[in-house]
Amino acid sequence: MDYDKLAELLFPNITKTPEDYEKEYPPRDLPEGAMVTRMAPSPTGFIHLGNLYGALADERLAHTTGGVCFLRIEDTDEKREVEGAVPVLLDTLSYFGISFDEGANKDGESGAYGPYTQSKRAEIYQAMVKHLIRQGKAYPCFMTEEELDEIREEQKAAKLDPGIYGSYARHRDLTYEEVEARIKAGEEFVIRLRSNGDASRYFKVSDAIRGTISMPENVQDVVILKKTGLPTYHFAHVVDDHLMRTTHVVRGEEWMASVPIHVQLFEAMGWPVPVFCHNTVLMKIDEETGQKRKLSKRKDPELSLEYYKKQGYFPEAVREYLMTILNSDYEEWRIANPDADYRTFAFSPSKMSDSGTLFDLSKLNDVSKDVLARKSAEEIYDFMTGWAEEYHPDLYRLFTENKDMLLKVFDIDRGGEKPRKDLVYAEQIFEFIKYFFDDHFVYESEWPAEVSAEDRREILRRYIEGYDPSDDNQAWFEKIRGITADMGYAVKPKDFKKDPDMYKGHVGHVSGVVRIAVTGRASSPDLWTVQQIMGPDMVRSRIEKAMER
Ligand code: GLU
Repeated sequence: MDYDKLAELLFPNITKTPEDYEKEYPPRDLPEGAMVTRMAPSPTGFIHLGNLYGALADERLAHTTGGVCFLRIEDTDEKREVEGAVPVLLDTLSYFGISFDEGANKDGESGAYGPYTQSKRAEIYQAMVKHLIRQGKAYPCFMTEEELDEIREEQKAAKLDPGIYGSYARHRDLTYEEVEARIKAGEEFVIRLRSNGDASRYFKVSDAIRGTISMPENVQDVVILKKTGLPTYHFAHVVDDHLMRTTHVVRGEEWMASVPIHVQLFEAMGWPVPVFCHNTVLMKIDEETGQKRKLSKRKDPELSLEYYKKQGYFPEAVREYLMTILNSDYEEWRIANPDADYRTFAFSPSKMSDSGTLFDLSKLNDVSKDVLARKSAEEIYDFMTGWAEEYHPDLYRLFTENKDMLLKVFDIDRGGEKPRKDLVYAEQIFEFIKYFFDDHFVYESEWPAEVSAEDRREILRRYIEGYDPSDDNQAWFEKIRGITADMGYAVKPKDFKKDPDMYKGHVGHVSGVVRIAVTGRASSPDLWTVQQIMGPDMVRSRIEKAMER
């Protein structure tokens, strides 16, 4: 067979060669050890936590080594493509602090290694395929869907591995004339790799997360170019990551099984194999079964990144949590360096997990509490306002009209040695502070059982009588104590505990009545401080309202 002639027959319009592209996309001029990574999503419109997890790894690996991280859009599967998915992807990633040095962006793309959208690279893939055909390493296959189904059935019945290999690769050795006749007859074809693999032979490949892996060679004549003239994932990955000079391919572990195909393709092209970094899927403990399982799009709203935006998680908190599950010693590092920028942490693929990473929302909430405890009241206010503007226009007005008050609310016990850690995410923060707004005030707690309804009204009556907003915290509390003693409650809780028959209750029950009247809740930050922020009008009206109950 004259392969040159075959290549011309199949790709008459392709004139460029791999050498041309080697010149066009030369090795990058980067310092020793700099990593080039990429995020390579399909524009399906759904961007999830796993994508962010991978993107953060890509971004950190590149940027801690002085390398480059780029975005490539893998849109060769038209069935999965969704209009407008790319801007959503970029916005979401940038919201979480991920930005790329080059590749697809909102204005199109930037960088010297593009196009970065696979559908615009058809000519490049075809030139590479043409090269393989010239060398006899690839061939056209005209098998129809029916024929492929038939083969699949036959293999199933005989309990053989599925796929096109050995004698099933029926079009491996068509003559030039046969190919020409089929093309003239308008038959469609794909291009398959002519595999030279042997399943009994093993090869080694290095994975920066999993170490050196030994796998059997690929024997399948996999499709590398589809009928549409666009490549399969396998071939696109090899061509793009070579020409874009990717050094580290961070991707999901579901691609592990395809590594033999990829290595064979790199070798067929005569190109070095990049370092693979196969990360793990995110798992969770199923609430019902208590078993570890993959996060699922259908069952787990927290898989979607939109969930975190809507709930109003600080992007930094989500990122901080992902860092703790991405690198095993991050948490330890953070304890030793509470105020350090996460970018100064020595991120490494070898510290990434190689088996199902556990994602735990309550752990994320804990991390978020720590992150928020380090923020200023102003930062919290600004974030809350931005969140409300997007998701709660009603609250947006409330927040902007009450800025001064909110700044004081967010400032309660902020800073200092032991800052309060009760703010987690915007939705929760609003729930936590909503009693500062009359329209959102509700009684959430039961009145203390130790206090009769009659006593409760009497406590509140005396309280309002003696209430003076200019009292300091101590003077204020003295008044509470006075009411406590006068009404037959113990001023010291321990006296009540010692001798419960002597008293109706203790000071905590009395102040509890006032607290519930003012905040609707049995627990709140320091009540005196809360009232100073509310101002006397609100305090009085709350007490009056409670007296009517
Ligand atoms: N487009 C592939 C995916 O979304 C990319 C895998 C890779 O990073 O190579 O799964």
